[in-house]
Amino acid sequence: MNDAPPILRVTQPNDIPDAGLDLVADVVVIGSGASGAVMAYELSRDGAKVVVLEAGPYLPSTEFTEHTPTAFETLYQDHGNQTNTTGDLIVLQGKCIGGSTVVNAAACFRTPDQVLEHWRTEHGLENLSPEALAPYFEKVERNLSIHQNEPHEVNYNGRLLLEGAAKLGIPASPATRNVKNCALSGHCLAACRTDRKQSMLVTYLPWASELGATILSGTRAETFEVNGRRITAVNAVATGAEGREKPVRVEAGLVVVAAGPIQTPLLFQKNELANSSGQIGLNFACHPSLAVLGEHASSIYAWVGASITAHAGDVENPLLGGYLIEAAAAGPVSTSSSVDGGVGPDFVDFMQRSKNMQSAVTLIHDHNVGRVYLGDDGQKKIEYDLDDRDFESLRRALRGTARIYFAAGAKRVFLPTTRRTTIESADEIDSVIKSLTNGKHKYRLTSYHPQGTMRMGADPTKSVVAPDGRCHDLDNVYVPDASLFPSSIMVNPQVTVYAMASYIADEIKARG
Ligand SMILES: Cc1cc2nc3c(=O)[nH]c(=O)nc-3n(C[C@H](O)[C@H](O)[C@H](O)COP(=O)(O)OP(=O)(O)OC[C@H]3O[C@@H](n4cnc5c(N)ncnc54)[C@H](O)[C@@H]3O)c2cc1C
Repeated sequence: MNDAPPILRVTQPNDIPDAGLDLVADVVVIGSGASGAVMAYELSRDGAKVVVLEAGPYLPSTEFTEHTPTAFETLYQDHGNQTNTTGDLIVLQGKCIGGSTVVNAAACFRTPDQVLEHWRTEHGLENLSPEALAPYFEKVERNLSIHQNEPHEVNYNGRLLLEGAAKLGIPASPATRNVKNCALSGHCLAACRTDRKQSMLVTYLPWASELGATILSGTRAETFEVNGRRITAVNAVATGAEGREKPVRVEAGLVVVAAGPIQTPLLFQKNELANSSGQIGLNFACHPSLAVLGEHASSIYAWVGASITAHAGDVENPLLGGYLIEAAAAGPVSTSSSVDGGVGPDFVDFMQRSKNMQSAVTLIHDHNVGRVYLGDDGQKKIEYDLDDRDFESLRRALRGTARIYFAAGAKRVFLPTTRRTTIESADEIDSVIKSLTNGKHKYRLTSYHPQGTMRMGADPTKSVVAPDGRCHDLDNVYVPDASLFPSSIMVNPQVTVYAMASYIADEIKARG
């Protein structure tokens, strides 16, 4: 890279003639998020003519508002309203140029060794050892300025988590993030208007664009033209501001489906392709996440500072019922939605105390019990009920969070149950946590990390994608997105996605 900032050029639907476009490329990439952007850059760098199709709009960062409802409306899948079929799990994903990386919280972790070892023994992924992936982790960490938070990037809320965890001997440390000179606005989830978060919008996509990649926004891939074991062309629809639809066809020698763990399996299901294993759409996991608040006697202002400042939990052993607690910025709006704040004067009183709330979100390693499919009505369905084994991990996470909060000086803990549940003292923690039971609509669950659904594995009868990222059933189609994770990883997944996409790009280059 030279010093001049690379320029991202995007063809928007209104730039496309009414008759549409008929393009020929070496590679067509569906989706411009974490995996699509890395693939586009890495393959462009290798001299390939790349076309990227992105269903969501292009918004340059100058148009970001730091207003969460506006961000949901403009940058998120289903305007932030994507849920499971029972409506008790929100599944958040970005839908814009840059995908979920534009709205993510910037926390970064390498894939835990224990997870990679599980993938090796259970799914035959001998090729993804920590040693083999290390150069890929190093590369994306360098490219995205990933570093541990400096002391000034850990706000009071984060320091309380670190202090509480230290008193209890729970491992904890400042968070690691892909942000350069963070402005500490805490608005990551509404997108970074200062370009400091190193999302795909300001890194790999402009780099790919500089190398000649054609990037189309508002253009949804819909059908595949197939010849034997090859997809020969992708048909998409570009939708202009006034709703006019224009056809876009891209003929390419290589097809990369990077539409994310919900849309990628739906595309294959719609086209009835690559499913000899019967596994497409199965094995959905999502790191069901809960926000927990701890009320203190004095002000904390958890919304002042970086979005994620510190974390606690055993990140080395996620598969043994492990959990992760992340100190997270919580403004009054999220405070009011993550726990039951009451109604009327009770609610007003609760909100007046929101500045005193310590805030964190929990993540767990969940089992792959969910399913994504097209219903008889042609609409997507996400089936996911919290498994009893995972409920035990959630309980452990809530208990760990409450213990840390009380150790840090909290006088009350609010749990993220549908109806208000509080823990009034450290002595009550065990009895209150024990009284919680699994079931629908009992907890305020959010998934920031959908995964699975196009499982990677060595055995073509049990997996959809081969260890090199290619679909077992097709010769020229690769899937590099979070759908290929054979199991959930517990930690935030973007670095795993970037590293896997970089690895798969190298596999493609090696095949010529
Ligand atoms: C609110 C939020 C916070 C998060 N916080 C963190 C965090 O702090 N740390 C972390 O590691 N991870 C975080 N993540 C998760 C992380 O960003 C994702 O795991 C990662 O971006 C997934 O990459 P992907 O390539 O699979 O999909 P995405 O990045 O979601 O990209 C998929 C893209 O494909 C497009 N697409 C879908 N269907 C089509 C179609 N038919 N045609 C064309 N385009 C299509 C979508 O519009 C989208 O832009 C967060 C995610 C969210 C939503």
